[in-house]
Amino acid sequence: MTDISLRQELISTCLAMNASGINSGTSGNISVRTGDDSFLITPSGLPYETMTPDQVVSMNIDGSFDGAWKPSSEWRMHADLYRAREDAGAVLHCHAPHATAISCLRRDVPPFHYMIAITGASVIKCAKYALFGTQELSNAMIEAFGPSKACLLANHGMTCFSKDLTQVLKLGIEIENICQQYQLACTMGEPILLSDAEMAEAHSAFADYGVQPSKA
Ligand code: 13P
Ligand code: ZN
Repeated sequence: MTDISLRQELISTCLAMNASGINSGTSGNISVRTGDDSFLITPSGLPYETMTPDQVVSMNIDGSFDGAWKPSSEWRMHADLYRAREDAGAVLHCHAPHATAISCLRRDVPPFHYMIAITGASVIKCAKYALFGTQELSNAMIEAFGPSKACLLANHGMTCFSKDLTQVLKLGIEIENICQQYQLACTMGEPILLSDAEMAEAHSAFADYGVQPSKA
């Protein structure tokens, strides 16, 4: 894929993120890996509706960047995930309503539903609070991620990563869905949690979920 079409795909993913209802306005940010140490990221504070490919920022995990547009204030979260997780091909941060509501209680989302296994872990942890855009927030996020592909950020929102832009948006939407279900279940009582053995089964079942035999 050419650099320009990847920039365009990044903007389309931001528009789709807002259209899906998991984010609004200029909140949130998305990036896509372009090399071992480099990625494209949304510029800070610019509306997605009028964003043009030249405004997307090309940057290195050391924080250096090309061009006149300032990268997202959360570039450290993105850079630290690309540094820590070689399976991260795209990173999405958003202020999804249900995920954010749970993050305001500073609660983890426990294994109340087998779909949590899509994160690669059995709990969606909530990172400690730190001011947006700081290294302190990024450090807290990395700690909360552990082996997972997602976490909540206290009094702020959520961050997740996947192998590419299509998959990271899908994961972000599913995490918000899980958070909504958890919140709804909590209004009716205390959800019954799945055991470690039940979650282990779900992790194994996901290993080949959605893999169809190819037609010969
Ligand atoms: P940016 O516009 O700088 O990406 O910030 C949005 C945000 O969500 C900060 O946490
Ligand atoms: Zn944010």
